[in-house]
Amino acid sequence: MNRMRIGTLCVRGAEDKNNTTGAISVPVYQSATFAHPGVGQSTGYDYSRLQNPTREALENLVAALEGGDDAMAFATGMAAMATLCELFAPGDGILASGDLYGGSVRLFDNVIGRHGIAVDYLDTGDAENVRGRIRENTKAIFVETPTNPTMLVTDVAAISAICKERGLLLIVDNTFLTPIYQRPIELGADVVLHSGTKYLGGHNDTLAGFLVTANAELSERLRFLYKTVGACLAPWDSFLILRGIKTLAIRMERITENARRIAAWLEAQNDVEAVMYPGESGVISFRVNSAETARKILGNVKTILYAESLGGVESLITYPILQTHADVPAETREALGIDERLLRLSVGIEAADDLVADLKAALHEI
Ligand SMILES: *Cc1c(COP(=O)(O)O)cnc(C)c1O
Repeated sequence: MNRMRIGTLCVRGAEDKNNTTGAISVPVYQSATFAHPGVGQSTGYDYSRLQNPTREALENLVAALEGGDDAMAFATGMAAMATLCELFAPGDGILASGDLYGGSVRLFDNVIGRHGIAVDYLDTGDAENVRGRIRENTKAIFVETPTNPTMLVTDVAAISAICKERGLLLIVDNTFLTPIYQRPIELGADVVLHSGTKYLGGHNDTLAGFLVTANAELSERLRFLYKTVGACLAPWDSFLILRGIKTLAIRMERITENARRIAAWLEAQNDVEAVMYPGESGVISFRVNSAETARKILGNVKTILYAESLGGVESLITYPILQTHADVPAETREALGIDERLLRLSVGIEAADDLVADLKAALHEI
């Protein structure tokens, strides 16, 4: 399995271990519990919070895509984050990228902060700065790259070298680049987090989250928390994410092609002052010349939908200040440049000409 190239792995990597029919897609095992063949015996499945054959096929596939030891599928990305945070105890400190997904900041500041775990934000793109901020109680570094929405990039291998030297856990949120463009475990990360709702699922129809672990010791600790907390992905949703992953490689190819075209078009517009695009994947942030221009675009787009989220086949545009980053403290937002002129576009797989025409019409109110 692992020797397949990633494009093939997406299509063929999912395996139903119990397949006796030759079915080429993994069935939905819509069962909460499993009968035991005899006293003290198990089929390998006991209760679906612990394991379910559909979810298991998905988890094995995601582990293979990320080059991990194990993967756990959660109901949402935030459920994966919250379970991961159970690794930490009162008094522990975490260093995190300064421009994280808004929900991650809300969890860190308003939920786990109350349990005595302190999260400090910094630019993880500057490895020396990271080294200088490590304290005695620092247990982990949490990296999102590129960040959302301002697209700051972190060198995962450079941060990993520091983590190894200081005995810290390196956690990477790989939602934006996906294993097609970045495999953090190969770069030295210990845990990879995904909002499977985004590119892995890819169709804006299912919520999901993943934790992928680099070694057996971490897998065992997180599996224990996983079955105990119970925020697991349902069999039907597991099936939908499995189906989504079949086209991951080709979607990413098309999305990147479209996004490069649109980023170049945006760069050439007088009303657009800055374009933030890391060159791969489909999220483009851009700053326009006024709040009115931003509102005009949001109000006028038609092919592109004005909606939160990203990573699906449909192109979506959001207003971070009012949506994804509304709960980020105002001073943090200002420092990061998340203002009323900043828009975030998630490019889908539509014809690029239609997307450019839609933006052009919205900007000029044609
Ligand atoms: C959406 C997102 C999350 C949260 O995932 P949900 O599936 O919405 O709970 C976490 N990190 C990043 C980078 C995201 O984009």
